[in-house]
Amino acid sequence: MPEQDPPPPAYFPTTSTSPLHPPHALYSRLASLPPSSLTQTLSLTIPPRSGRAFHVAAGSLFRFSTPEGAQVGDLNVWNQHNPRERFWATRTRQLQGSHLVEGDRLWSCLPYMRPLCGVVEDGCQADLVKAGREKGQGAASGEGPRDERGSVVSKAGGRMHDLLGTRCDPYVSTVLTGTQYDYHCHSNLTRAVTQAPFHLSESDVHDVVNIFQVTGLDASGRYFMEASPCTPSSYITFFAEQDLLVALSTCPGGDLSAWGWAAGEGAVEQKTVGDEVLDVDERMKRTCRPIKVDVWEVNESEREEVLRGWTTPEGSAYKGAHGMGIPRGETPKIQA
Ligand SMILES: [Zn+2]
Repeated sequence: MPEQDPPPPAYFPTTSTSPLHPPHALYSRLASLPPSSLTQTLSLTIPPRSGRAFHVAAGSLFRFSTPEGAQVGDLNVWNQHNPRERFWATRTRQLQGSHLVEGDRLWSCLPYMRPLCGVVEDGCQADLVKAGREKGQGAASGEGPRDERGSVVSKAGGRMHDLLGTRCDPYVSTVLTGTQYDYHCHSNLTRAVTQAPFHLSESDVHDVVNIFQVTGLDASGRYFMEASPCTPSSYITFFAEQDLLVALSTCPGGDLSAWGWAAGEGAVEQKTVGDEVLDVDERMKRTCRPIKVDVWEVNESEREEVLRGWTTPEGSAYKGAHGMGIPRGETPKIQA
């Protein structure tokens, strides 16, 4: 265990105008909008163990929810007009934290380095508080143990909306277990974005935010996952800072309460569930549920007022060339 407090966060905002300050004023206005101020532009349900992609216009809200109960989702985000600009999980984790909270933004990769979208409302923290209380944890105030950023922290040290891990994929699955399985999150995202009208490729799929997923690092720095405590009323709502292509996979691990490597060591281990004896994969399948997607735009009559002061963020203003001299044309003739 550490013997002294850690140094301050490496990327803490140091000026009043730092872009690291969450845009709370705008996001609070958006979070408090009544349904009558919004026009729905998309509603779809992603079935269990599959993936879907969709566009979201800049200035719109998009929400993921779990109407049938807990299910984790693996989220990818691109600039709709330029898929080379995509979500960068590592930099986002460094600038903000290991798990998303309200006001956090999802930053794009180099050389763009700007927010793609941000968390307007997190309707899941209460689920963690409730789950903790059921385990005999949680403060008398009912707020549960929260860290400085506002995340509820589970007894094991887990937090919601994970930026530590990445998507499950068939390559590592085959390495670890020797099985061939086509519906891991990487494959679900690949199928979602390679088809018309998106026409991306497998290499466009990138590290994710695991929404509705509770994870942490143990005392030895090893990644762990806990069962998602989400309920039929859980949701997370994002604001699109740019025109976006968004893709989400409903993880074949379901709510992660029965997670296991389907053909690895222990896979043949059977457990009695009710009157049935089930192996790992069958137990996981029964924890898999859909995730609902809703997209809204702010009514045109209110947009100017609600979005006042906001414009799509500019990319990084770095104009250098990494110290390289770049030839401007043909080399001069060599003098005899
Ligand atoms: Zn997955």
